[in-house]
Amino acid sequence: MTRPLIIAIDGPASSGKSTLSRLLARELGLLYLDTGSMYRAVALAVTEAGVNLTDSKAVGEIARRAAIVLEGDPDSVRVALEGRDVTEAIRSEQITHASSVVSTIPEVRREMVRRQREMGREPGRGVVLNGRDAGTVIFPDADLKFFLTAEPEARARRRFEEERVRVQDINYDETLADINARDRRDSERDDSPLTIADDAVVIDTTELSIEDVFRQMLEVVRERHPPDEGGASNPRP
Ligand code: C5P
Repeated sequence: MTRPLIIAIDGPASSGKSTLSRLLARELGLLYLDTGSMYRAVALAVTEAGVNLTDSKAVGEIARRAAIVLEGDPDSVRVALEGRDVTEAIRSEQITHASSVVSTIPEVRREMVRRQREMGREPGRGVVLNGRDAGTVIFPDADLKFFLTAEPEARARRRFEEERVRVQDINYDETLADINARDRRDSERDDSPLTIADDAVVIDTTELSIEDVFRQMLEVVRERHPPDEGGASNPRP
C-alpha cells in the first residue's frame, strides 16, 4: 500500500497558507494541521501564566507541559488548551505578537516539532500541514512542498480587511509594521528560520485570487501524484 500523502505548505504571515491548506485538505480528504495554532496556544499559556515571553527556560517548560488538542474538520478546527476551547482567544493581536516571540525559543520548537511529526504521521491519514518549517524541518521528506509568498503590502492589506470586521481600532500602517516585524523574527531567528526548501513549488500570491492559487496547487498535486498511482486521494463527493 502506498503511504498517504504529506503536503507541506510554508510561507510568511498572511500569505494565504491556512486558507489554501484547508481547501487542499478538504479536497484530498487529508488531515489538516495548522502548526501556527500550536505556537499560539503556547503563547496564550505563557501570557496567562504571567511569564516573560523571552524567559526561555520557563517558556520551554510551559510548552512541554501544555495540553494542546486540535480537532474537527478542516473547515471547523477547534483548538483546546488544557481542555478549554481557545480557538478565538489565540487569534488576538496580543497573542499573535506573543506567538511570534515564543516561537524563536529552541525548547519550544523542539517540543512542537516532536508533536507535529507524531500528529502528521497518524496511520493511514496523510496530512496537509502549514507553518514556517513544515517542509524544511518537520517533514523534510514531504511528498510535496509549497512555499506561498506575497508582497508585505498585499499581506498587510488582506490581514487588515480580515481583522477589521472583528477589531475596531485596527489600522493599516500598524498591520504592515506588524507583518514586517514578524517576517523579520521568522527569518532571522537562529533555530529553523523561514527558508524556502530547495524542492518547494513557490507561488507568489500577490496578484492572484484564492481560487487561482488553489487551482495551481491542485494541478501540481494531480500532476505529481495522480490518483490512479495511489497518490492524491480522490476528491470527496
Ligand atoms: O501561522 P501563524 O501566523 O498562525 O503562526 C503564529 C506564529 O508562530 C508565527 O508568527 C510564527 O512566528 C510562528 N510559527 C513558527 N513555525 C511554524 C508555525 C508558526 O515559528 N511552523
